[in-house]
Amino acid sequence: MEIKAIRGFNDILPDEIGKWQFVEKTAREVFEGFGFSEIRIPIIERTELFSRGIGEATDIVEKEMYTFTDKSGNSLTLRPEATASMARAYLEHQLHTFDPVAKLYCIGPMFRYERPQKGRYRQFYQIDAEVFGVDNPMVDAEVIVMLIHFLERVGLEKLELQINSLGCRKCRPRYREELKSFLTKKSFQLCEDCQRRLETNPLRIFDCKVETCQKAIADAPKVLDFIDDECQNHFGKVKEYLEAAGLTYILNPRMVRGLDYYTRTAFEVVSYQLGSQNAVTGGGRYDDLFKDIGGLDVPGIGFAIGMERLISLLPKDKEFVQYPHLFIAALGGETNREAYRLVNQLHLEGIRAELDYEGKSLKSQMRRADKLKARYVLILGEEELKKGRAVLRNMKTKSQEEIPMKDLLDTLKAKLQQFSVKINRMGDLASEG
Ligand code: AMP
Repeated sequence: MEIKAIRGFNDILPDEIGKWQFVEKTAREVFEGFGFSEIRIPIIERTELFSRGIGEATDIVEKEMYTFTDKSGNSLTLRPEATASMARAYLEHQLHTFDPVAKLYCIGPMFRYERPQKGRYRQFYQIDAEVFGVDNPMVDAEVIVMLIHFLERVGLEKLELQINSLGCRKCRPRYREELKSFLTKKSFQLCEDCQRRLETNPLRIFDCKVETCQKAIADAPKVLDFIDDECQNHFGKVKEYLEAAGLTYILNPRMVRGLDYYTRTAFEVVSYQLGSQNAVTGGGRYDDLFKDIGGLDVPGIGFAIGMERLISLLPKDKEFVQYPHLFIAALGGETNREAYRLVNQLHLEGIRAELDYEGKSLKSQMRRADKLKARYVLILGEEELKKGRAVLRNMKTKSQEEIPMKDLLDTLKAKLQQFSVKINRMGDLASEG
């Protein structure tokens, strides 16, 4: 029987990879420009890191983790998110002794046992950025500004920044109780999961997609009416800094985020181009996470962008596939040797050159060059080669010219130079002639 990939786990094929590389490259450029450094963390951690960090009463910890026991009897988990691991690494390597403020980003796969559907997978990629060690609202705004700048740089449109404040562990319990007593009166309207959430984590009911639950929660008390003065003040400053940076936002008092560790600022960027899974990215402040995983009292803020969802929103008119710059069509005998010599030389120059390995006719080689969408074809005939010449064909304009072999490399480089520059800015490929 043919072995297939596991449901919810995707291959990213060569014709899609250009988009991924473009997004990752842009993230690195933008984030490094904002003073962030990359960190790479393991894909597997001790289960405890996530159960303590993310919170026992969250969907992720309750039912979505890939947890297994290794051969030594340790309970390990495939990381469902990156923040807890990044916080662990910051503590473990005492990054705070170098500088209390750490600005870190990380790109890689996450694993959650969710029901696969469009935009929701069991292995999915995230780009995470986190700032540890500052609770100044200025940094909340700075992180959001960086996020929006990045999303605009990759070409996303029709985005909406939604913000909220979730208060802190001092003031949120009062809200929680209020919400609980409000919803208890309507508990007959709640789904089975939400009946349970009512006891364990009533804020999670906001995220439930079941219609009756959404109705039940429609006129629920708002967290912003319950947060204490310090949290109000912090949130007021975040809004001021966002406005000072020229960003528009929508206050969404119903956005509570799925993870327990969030405190104060919470934000999401949604796209109205996406269906029900419309959040491209979400994040917020988590000033208790470090304490929860047994570390120092370090505040933090960050976001995670879902790469699959982001990539599905990239402008359709941009082309991200890399085509061969040149196809060398050799016509037998000495020309094959010359084609081999040439292709190696061109590869060392960074020119994507292809050739035929099967001794096919000129016609079938031209057909392959066309299918591969090669920009140029170099036709090496025996007669021409004897005269030290070859024919270069522009596959778009169909014009042909004879070129002296001794000038070939320089001629090609000159023709492709502008193109190579564009390759580095992959989003511009479509405008190539
Ligand atoms: P979260 O870590 O739950 O706040 O999610 C952050 C972002 O990751 C979301 O806004 C989504 O874009 C993306 N994401 C979360 N879960 C999945 C999933 N199962 N499949 C694909 N993308 C996801």
